[in-house]
Amino acid sequence: MGSILGTKNCYGCGVCAASCKKHAIRMIINPDGFYQPEVNENLCINCGVCVDVCSFQTEDIKQNGLFDAEYFAGWSHDKDVRHKCSSGGVGFEIARYLLEKDYVAIVCGYNSSERRAKHFLANTIDELKASVGSKYIQSNTYYAFSQLQSEKKYLVVGTPCQIDSIRRWVKRMKMDDSVILMDFFCHGVPSLLMWDKYLAKVEGKIGRIDNIVWRDKEAGWHDSWVMKVNGCYVSRFSQGDLFYRMFLKNRCLAKPCYDKCKFKGINSAADIRIGDLWGREYAKNEEGVSGVVGLTKKGASLLAEMSKVIHLEASSTEIVCESQMKSCAIRPLSYRYVMRNLRINKPLSEIDRNASFIEMFEEIPSTIKYYAFCLPVKIKDTVKKIIRDTVQ
Ligand SMILES: Cc1cc2nc3c(=O)[nH]c(=O)nc-3n(C[C@H](O)[C@H](O)[C@H](O)COP(=O)(O)OP(=O)(O)OC[C@H]3O[C@@H](n4cnc5c(N)ncnc54)[C@H](O)[C@@H]3O)c2cc1C
Repeated sequence: MGSILGTKNCYGCGVCAASCKKHAIRMIINPDGFYQPEVNENLCINCGVCVDVCSFQTEDIKQNGLFDAEYFAGWSHDKDVRHKCSSGGVGFEIARYLLEKDYVAIVCGYNSSERRAKHFLANTIDELKASVGSKYIQSNTYYAFSQLQSEKKYLVVGTPCQIDSIRRWVKRMKMDDSVILMDFFCHGVPSLLMWDKYLAKVEGKIGRIDNIVWRDKEAGWHDSWVMKVNGCYVSRFSQGDLFYRMFLKNRCLAKPCYDKCKFKGINSAADIRIGDLWGREYAKNEEGVSGVVGLTKKGASLLAEMSKVIHLEASSTEIVCESQMKSCAIRPLSYRYVMRNLRINKPLSEIDRNASFIEMFEEIPSTIKYYAFCLPVKIKDTVKKIIRDTVQ
């Protein structure tokens, strides 16, 4: 019983709001730029469902049976799909395969007019196309997740925290047999305040933004951290793109990404986990390779069927997880400065410049920091003490 009233800085997965029969919960964007639930106490009947489905409230992960994970490297045989998707296009192919078997795919798209990533329901392959490619910001799942109906079959794709909560909701609805869950290795999500500043900067250069592609393999998969806007503006991480600098340097991730991500390695509530298979094994591949993990019996048997449709080769945990984060992100020295300044009217380029300056101090070995900063203070205190003792 109870409610998630007062929950702050959570995963923002939206499952509490989607599962609330009284529509007493809505997802708002908190002052740091992340989704968070807001409870209308007049509507809340303290039924406790929102607490029960919330992954953030517990330490455990809702797994669907014990199973020895199976690892694969894979890619789509469709050159266009492989080129457009972030890694090897396995996520898209699994969704396409299931749509043909009467599943509905609940996937993430980007809405340019709202400037936000949003989950939506794809019933056809044409509709599924809007899910292609990662959108590296937190997605609003509320509308799509609240559409689950017990008589239909679904594939749900999302971040590991979204999937852990939705697994809890699916279990409550006794829909385990009709839902397949797929998550991905997740770096974390950056603040929407940063995203808004980034958009403002790009709009200042090219005007209204109608289309954004977050990864682009024009120069190959390994250099695919690229923002391609309206098909003409191209900004690469390798050449200092501001969004990717802020995101990949962990300067403004959501608080739980630093403090409470329980989903690193293959810790997951999903049936299948996918990701970019970076690492030595495919270091020379420039078309894109997906790391794929079958995490449950259901996930593994779907992958066995998929092996007739896509390229899937057996791999190992060492290869698939080689370049994935092993633990929560670490706040850089610039974190507090960045979060404070994202809230005010300061351009992203200035925040980036100052953050880089602050981070330079991280590079200084701690002995030099001691002699440069701590020792002079200690000497000053000692001299003061000597003078005081002498005078008394
Ligand atoms: C915020 C974020 C962090 C990530 N971090 C890592 C990482 O550290 N390591 C790694 O290997 N891979 C990471 N990925 C996953 C990776 O970028 C690819 O999405 C994955 O390899 C699948 O690629 P694909 O080629 O199969 O198909 P794609 O077409 O790229 O698949 C995209 C799928 O991801 C879903 N999706 C896209 N954006 C979001 C979003 N914002 N929220 C929820 N679901 C979304 C879509 O619904 C679609 O089903 C991350 C993705 C996101 C969105």
